Amino acid sequence: MASYDYDLFVIGVGSGGVRAARMSAQYGARVATAEEKYMGGTCVNVGCVPKKLFVYASHYSEDYQQAEGFGWDKAAPGFNWPTLLNNKNTEISRLNGVYKGLLDTAGVTHFDGRARIVDKHHIAIGDTTVSTERILIATGSWPVVPEFSGNEHVITSNEAFFLEQLPRRCLVVGGGYIAVEFAGIFHGLGVDTKLSYRGPLFLRHFDIDIRETVREELQKKNIDLMFETNVSAIEKKEDGTLRVIFKEGNELETDLVLYATGRESAVKDIGLENVNVETRENGSIIVDEEFRTSEENIFALGDVIGHMQLTPVAIEEAMCFANTQFLGERKVIDYSNIATAVFCQPNVGTVGLTENEARESCEEIDIYRSSFRPMKHTLSGSDERFMMKLIVDRKTDKVLGVHMVGSDAGEIIQGISIAMKMGVTKTLFDSTIGIHPTTAEEFVTMREPVPVEK
Ligand code: NDP
Repeated sequence: MASYDYDLFVIGVGSGGVRAARMSAQYGARVATAEEKYMGGTCVNVGCVPKKLFVYASHYSEDYQQAEGFGWDKAAPGFNWPTLLNNKNTEISRLNGVYKGLLDTAGVTHFDGRARIVDKHHIAIGDTTVSTERILIATGSWPVVPEFSGNEHVITSNEAFFLEQLPRRCLVVGGGYIAVEFAGIFHGLGVDTKLSYRGPLFLRHFDIDIRETVREELQKKNIDLMFETNVSAIEKKEDGTLRVIFKEGNELETDLVLYATGRESAVKDIGLENVNVETRENGSIIVDEEFRTSEENIFALGDVIGHMQLTPVAIEEAMCFANTQFLGERKVIDYSNIATAVFCQPNVGTVGLTENEARESCEEIDIYRSSFRPMKHTLSGSDERFMMKLIVDRKTDKVLGVHMVGSDAGEIIQGISIAMKMGVTKTLFDSTIGIHPTTAEEFVTMREPVPVEK
């Protein structure tokens, strides 16, 4: 039998890679990892974590305004971007160390540098080549900017986390998670913010009531939502101002353009051409239920397989991989009812089917929906409204989808997703006693379905 330096070599130490390496090592495998950028990958460095810190920072502007209604003197505090940036960077460095510590403690050998697959059992990191029985590709994804004249003047979320100064004006392009989250962050930090989306209404894959409520709430905040607009070119003027020209004939001037138009699998220059790993046209790696590629000893998981680009999904995929390969317990991921949140302001929380999906898969559904001004805003002066919605299979009483726009929607929907996993019925929602006074209690007090539109 061939003997290898390692049982497993993991390329990329993001959320999926670290978990797979750590668990496999804990189960007794000899594991090595390689990473050329940062410990913890996108989530820790240029994704979920710094984004959430920025969301917190940006919300203070509203909090200060609203405090007056509760008796606080009107505060006019200044905002200091470098302070936020430095504090964020310090926290991320701490987390980088935590991730490195996790690998060290588990006995994983880590290589700093770009790993390239030489053949199905060899990996080169600079001048060093090692042999391995299995390879796991966990290289994640990278923002994509479409081709157009002047696209070198735009930034992506990668750069947005390190801006030397906050712009006065900003245009965000895209209509997914990152676009609406960053539109909220920039607006909250005082930047004059516009959002351009190519379709009639953003957040295309979300429930219609979520999409409409988010549109209304962002418009109330004076974020300029430019739907059905397509950038055709960007010119940089001598003073640094960006002139954005749209296919529709209009144009505008701004100081920063952030593109959030999706992320593609990071498969460039990792040596895929040296092995028989099949990819889709968009570069994402094709895997089976066990995350095995078309090369029998090479596996892939996380964003690079182009499925659900979510940190907790990558982590669960990694658990399934490690358990199956090194614990001898086959574990398959269940992708149903995965809750997700969009940290726009107010937040979105969602789990299960959208109304459209439910109508397609179910003969008869009942919709329970509530749109209301939350209690806090009776004194805060804000005209923000929340939306909560349940979609129920009329025949089986099973809850098919739960959707919310409102403060802490992400926190609330996590608990609901456990009930969804258990196959909760509307009757069980109704028999649950609420917590008063909360926003969340609305989910267990909606009794009358909304009239069905034919
Ligand atoms: P998304 O896939 O969410 O959205 C991409 C957006 O860009 C869509 O609105 C899409 O339009 C639009 N778009 C795509 N191509 C073009 C183009 N050529 N020109 C103009 N518009 C275009 O990607 P994001 O970049 O926002 O985020 C990447 C992924 O990261 C997300 O899918 C999500 O999985 C993850 N993420 C998760 C977060 C969370 O959990 N809170 C936060 C941030 C990111 P259309 O809808 O018409 O196709």
